Amino acid sequence: MIQLDYHLHCLNSPDSKESLEAICQAAIQKDLKEIMVTDHYEMFTDDYGRNPYRSDYLDQCFDTVLKCREKYRDQLYVGFGIELGQLHLQPDAAARIVKEYPFDYVIASLHKLDDLDLKYYDYSRTDVRDLCRRYLNGLNEIAEIGDFDCIGHMDLIKRYAAEQGYQIRIEDEEETVRKILRTLVERKKGLEVNTSGIRQKVGECFPSEIILKWYVEEGGKFATVGSDAHCGRNVGEGLTEADKLLNKVGFLHVDRFRSRVRI
Ligand SMILES: [Zn+2]
Ligand SMILES: [Zn+2]
Repeated sequence: MIQLDYHLHCLNSPDSKESLEAICQAAIQKDLKEIMVTDHYEMFTDDYGRNPYRSDYLDQCFDTVLKCREKYRDQLYVGFGIELGQLHLQPDAAARIVKEYPFDYVIASLHKLDDLDLKYYDYSRTDVRDLCRRYLNGLNEIAEIGDFDCIGHMDLIKRYAAEQGYQIRIEDEEETVRKILRTLVERKKGLEVNTSGIRQKVGECFPSEIILKWYVEEGGKFATVGSDAHCGRNVGEGLTEADKLLNKVGFLHVDRFRSRVRI
């Protein structure tokens, strides 16, 4: 049984209202032994012009984690992680942040194209095939240049399309997806199994089974599991399903991290 949750947001993230204490208490109640707090840090294009993250944002994130790590140390390890969005847009800044702070674990995600969150696209007016290709180009760049541990929710784009009644499957672009997976394998990077899709309209994990299978076929061994909970209620959700999925496609273990070292 997996007793880890490697993708969680507390109220430091702009899209969560839950205190880290409440997240930790939920984790303890659900018998988890370790959580990784991965609050958002989003990157934008040069001309975006308004970075919503204050300069002391990451100090505050670290401080929050340290307090809870100490407070719950007999019951739970509270790891300091980050979810970096679009790191390929500001690679130097991203690399600097990752070096400057004592992260245990770094997720690289792609939430936005042209500075617009994928959830705000009108899929009825969008060339979804083109959008999917641009999404994959972004992921490819992230995979090639980023300093990170795992790619977060690799096929996230299917979530927002599904919510508007459209289907986008990145696996339709098998050659490109496999190229990205090979880059991850070569660079010893992992894939995250993000269980949040199970509780959404799309009804399955990110990424889908076939992508995990291709990653294993290409020689990949590294996976983490996270609920992407933004509130206590969702902490640890879907771990059993993720466990089954990972076993089915041939992963032998789930990774943990300390100070960016896989254990
Ligand atoms: Zn995300
Ligand atoms: Zn997240």
